Amino acid sequence: MDASEIQRLTNLDHAHVWHPFTQMQGWLEESPLIIERGQDEFVYDVQGREYIDAISSLWVTIHGHNRPEINAAIKAQVDKICHSTLLGQASPPSIEVAAQLSAIAPGRMPYTFYSDAGSTATEIALKIAYQYHHQTGNPQRGRFAAMNLAYHGDTIGAVSVGGMDLFHGVYRDLLFQAVRLPAPYCYRCELGLDKANCGLACAQKAEEILDREGETLAGLIIEPLVQGAAGIITHPDGYLRRVFEACRRNGILFIADEVAVGLGRTGKMFACEWEDVTPDILCLGKGLSGGYLPLAATMTTQEVFNGFLGKYEEYKTFFHGHTFTGNPVACAAAVASLNLYNTDRTLESLQPKIRQFRELLRELEALEHVGEVRQRGFMAGVELVVDKATRSIHPPEELVPHRVILRAREQGVIIRPLGNVIVLMPILAVRPENLTRIVEVTKDSIRKVTQG
Ligand code: PMP
Repeated sequence: MDASEIQRLTNLDHAHVWHPFTQMQGWLEESPLIIERGQDEFVYDVQGREYIDAISSLWVTIHGHNRPEINAAIKAQVDKICHSTLLGQASPPSIEVAAQLSAIAPGRMPYTFYSDAGSTATEIALKIAYQYHHQTGNPQRGRFAAMNLAYHGDTIGAVSVGGMDLFHGVYRDLLFQAVRLPAPYCYRCELGLDKANCGLACAQKAEEILDREGETLAGLIIEPLVQGAAGIITHPDGYLRRVFEACRRNGILFIADEVAVGLGRTGKMFACEWEDVTPDILCLGKGLSGGYLPLAATMTTQEVFNGFLGKYEEYKTFFHGHTFTGNPVACAAAVASLNLYNTDRTLESLQPKIRQFRELLRELEALEHVGEVRQRGFMAGVELVVDKATRSIHPPEELVPHRVILRAREQGVIIRPLGNVIVLMPILAVRPENLTRIVEVTKDSIRKVTQG
């Protein structure tokens, strides 16, 4: 693209586009990165510069950009119809995806309720859980348990169960109150304990709360194994299972928000599989369409589904549905993506790369201003600190994480910060040499920015 066209787009972006999770005052002072196309693990900007996409285009891309199989499925569906509704109608791609998901879901989850974003998937899960108890003789179960530092999306229900003050605090008066469980953030333990000898006290505390409040709780919503948006907070082994068992014995629906961790991210298809957890409700989004088009799913057990059956005049219907629910083009992409897990042996070829990633990340721990490196499968968070001993963080006005990602960008790698944590989220299909490059560039960028 020539320079004048790029300048025209830059001016229009600055004049008209309000970017998400972005301080626009800072944005307006910088030249925007304008991405025009992608291929495999690379994206290319309007100047033709190549970057490794180490954020999987916000945690969504699984098999790489521009995969012929997914493109072909989308094009074939476009030639048939681009949208038909699921309100009172069905469509072949939405039927196929739901059937395939129920065959691979953790536990028995025969039903899928579609929507188009992770936030809607969790919002739907909360409403289903609430209404389920209401119509199965337990209307006193009207509250939800959720984790401190949780992130489940940006709509008001999802924000109510969210626990990140920076994102959610301002809306406090608009929200319903959730029962809070301590976050298992071992590096900055809420209970002031040390991981080496805490005996998983946070799990015990969670159990006590769930046992005490159990009869009033409709459900617990949790990001299994990794609290992503809070800074890739990886949970200690056994935590998920204990919280799950506490829900089971108290009749609390277990809602697994696998929007970020699902579909292979942690090294298994679903994070719940690591601890043999079978949720009552499962939320998927992001990578469901291979990361190509907006598509999300809220899956349920037969029992939950049955709670909504009745004669029309009993009004047990789930009165919820977005206009583009189960869009056939997005579902066609999802069918192609789900098939690619088999033909590419995605999870099998991921395992050695997860080990490679772990080895590479170890080198970052030695850096003077890296407090902790956390990894689970193909998700990693590098927590920056001023001082390793006090674990203090850089003053926000120094924009240290932002400067790190700009440095990495200059070297052809796209990464993003979450607070004082640099997040690495490689595309599952990344080639080993480019995985190495991602970590090397991150290391170099952190060193140059923090050590001057
Ligand atoms: N749940 C989790 C665990 C997420 O990480 C996200 C998005 N990062 C969401 C829900 C919300 O998804 P969306 O942005 O598609 O609404």
